[in-house]
Amino acid sequence: MIFLDNASTTKVLPEVQEIVNKFNTELFYNPSALYGDAFFVSKEINKARENIIKRLGGRSTDNLIFTSCATESNNMVLKAFVKKNRKALISIGEHPSVYKVAFDLKSNGYDVEFLNLNHDGVVTVQELKRCMTPDVDFISIMHVNNETGAINDIEQLVKVAKGINKKVVFHCDGVQAFGKISVNVQKLGVDFYTISGHKLHAPKGVGALFVKDSKYIKPLLLGGGQENDYRSGTENVSGIMALDQASQIMCDNIDNNFNNMQVLNNYVRVNVVDCKVISNSKSLPYTIMLAFPGCRAETILHMMEEKGFLIGNGSACSSKKRENRNLTAMGYDQKVIDGAIRISFAHYTTLEEIKSFVEQLNLVVKEYIEKVR
Ligand code: PLP
Repeated sequence: MIFLDNASTTKVLPEVQEIVNKFNTELFYNPSALYGDAFFVSKEINKARENIIKRLGGRSTDNLIFTSCATESNNMVLKAFVKKNRKALISIGEHPSVYKVAFDLKSNGYDVEFLNLNHDGVVTVQELKRCMTPDVDFISIMHVNNETGAINDIEQLVKVAKGINKKVVFHCDGVQAFGKISVNVQKLGVDFYTISGHKLHAPKGVGALFVKDSKYIKPLLLGGGQENDYRSGTENVSGIMALDQASQIMCDNIDNNFNNMQVLNNYVRVNVVDCKVISNSKSLPYTIMLAFPGCRAETILHMMEEKGFLIGNGSACSSKKRENRNLTAMGYDQKVIDGAIRISFAHYTTLEEIKSFVEQLNLVVKEYIEKVR
């Protein structure tokens, strides 16, 4: 099977798996214990924290909290920060771990407004200016969209927002960006930045949150006081060490990988026939969304699986009607939404694999269209 659904999760790299094994066997100690080996493990966690915060462009290890996943990091920020009598702006294209929390807060009487996307799938400066008022004190806009790969110009959006209210707190979900494009939280100007291990070849079950100023944050979990009291629970040591190693591998190869992904992305963009290319050419090249209007994405997915290729569909399926906040906001109709598939590469995906994928996809869609006619 050729796995082309890397935006949903990624395979743990062999050198990362070695670290996982080491910290689950030889060095399995609880970092809070008082003997020397446990102290060694706690020092290793702090080294990992130092490395990751540097890779994110942050200043101090106090600015990074390890969590169990990006969903936890996002919930932690929104639940602590979005408050009654204050106004928050959330992009309509956010992952459910932001959107659903925001929506829940809104239905509980919080003043949350959703920012629309343009046809390329990004929040524009104009849209932000339309909604931004001096009483807005929280904003959440993702860096790279998980369905389309659209890249928001976070630096510019932060500047505009802070120009209107210099105290506004800006959260950015960087799950699909970290390790794939360079990230510098200071340059971006964000107050919170979320990352996740399993999107960059570390295992599932580890994430982190950059926190510029901890006065804004409140723990979701109380207990043993780990992570400076911000996130109790025995640390996922092997996960944290894996996140360090995997992010090092990805960050050290950002430019090279990016260029290779561009080649794969262009090949798909140019050679798949009878489709609408949803992802704009400035999107992250690791992810491309295509739509086959009049076809059902699930059928294409299953037909491609039979041919040995695993791909994703961008939209969550309700019982009758497929819904997709991103594509709806981008102005696409139901026919496009129903036929939208997502192809996402890893740095080791080869052009040969993509050539054979495209050949099969074209055949499958042709066969499908002939059947339904
Ligand atoms: N944010 C984005 C943009 C994502 O793509 C995902 C996963 O699909 C998440 C958050 C949630 O990540 P996790 O599985 O680590 O909770």
